[in-house]
Amino acid sequence: MTAPRILVLGTGGTIAGAGAAGTGSAYRPGGLALEVLIDHLAALGLAAQLVPQEIARIGSQDMGWPQWQALHAACTAALADPAVDGVIVTHGTDTAEETGFLLDLTLPATKPIVLVGAMRAADAVGADGMRNFANAVKVASDPAAGGRGVMLVMGDAVLAARDARKAATSAIDAFRTFPRGPLARVTPSSLDWFAPPHRLGEGARYPFPTELPRVAILTAGAGMDAKPVEALLGIGARGIVLAGMGQGNAPRVVLEALAACAASGVPVVRAARVDEGIVDRNVEVDDDTLGLVAARALGPAKARMLLMVLVANGITDAGAVQAAFDG
Ligand code: GLU
Repeated sequence: MTAPRILVLGTGGTIAGAGAAGTGSAYRPGGLALEVLIDHLAALGLAAQLVPQEIARIGSQDMGWPQWQALHAACTAALADPAVDGVIVTHGTDTAEETGFLLDLTLPATKPIVLVGAMRAADAVGADGMRNFANAVKVASDPAAGGRGVMLVMGDAVLAARDARKAATSAIDAFRTFPRGPLARVTPSSLDWFAPPHRLGEGARYPFPTELPRVAILTAGAGMDAKPVEALLGIGARGIVLAGMGQGNAPRVVLEALAACAASGVPVVRAARVDEGIVDRNVEVDDDTLGLVAARALGPAKARMLLMVLVANGITDAGAVQAAFDG
């Protein structure tokens, strides 16, 4: 049997971090070339053929449109290439949820596409990157990994990109997943899926945009007024995600200003600044009357990505936006 051929798209992040004193905390994300990472991995003797392609060498706080375009193009080519069995994207953990979800929304769910990161730089004591990378190879090499959408491999778990979020700044076990739990448990030598693939053969949910519109996240705070909403409209926001209190709440004046945005054709989605949970329609906020959309299970960062994709594809009507968030 020939070893699976895996395209490895490097973007940087802590998994490629270097320059740390082994016991210190300072380092430079993306300091290590992708080839060096792959050499380290090859020394582990994994049964896979890894083909490197460097997209960027950055901290993922600088991830944006040019890198997303390049990643999407490379993944699209790999999905169409019969010689490629799967794709791994090495990525900083800060914005892995944004990149993973954008790719999940805009790529077909055929072959496995796996994001992987690390919480400790490659030369730090107790570095987790090689373990996570070896786990990602195990996942991307498994034919049963197709049809599950884009995934994130961290801490011996496989998470759906749609569900995963970074919930701790430095803990090694930094990611949580909601509303579903992990899709699988993985080690370099074992992989146990908890359910069958749910998107077998599915095409891309949305076309990849030709540009990303400005969609802003507005965090609600007690005692705030409506001026920040006016400021966002003033800089040309084409969509607003409210990171609201509790189940997506905000002071009355803010909700009134957001309703005016919605009425003027700028869609408004209510998410929660609370770490986890569903934001439902018409609980304390009368979404039907105000023309607002409830983010349901998506937190603010992912709600912003979905709203950008929707607006870019001309979907701005509150009912259609709500249907996308319900889906
Ligand atoms: N801020 C950097 C990034 O997201 C480092 C954090 C990490 O990768 O864990 O790329």
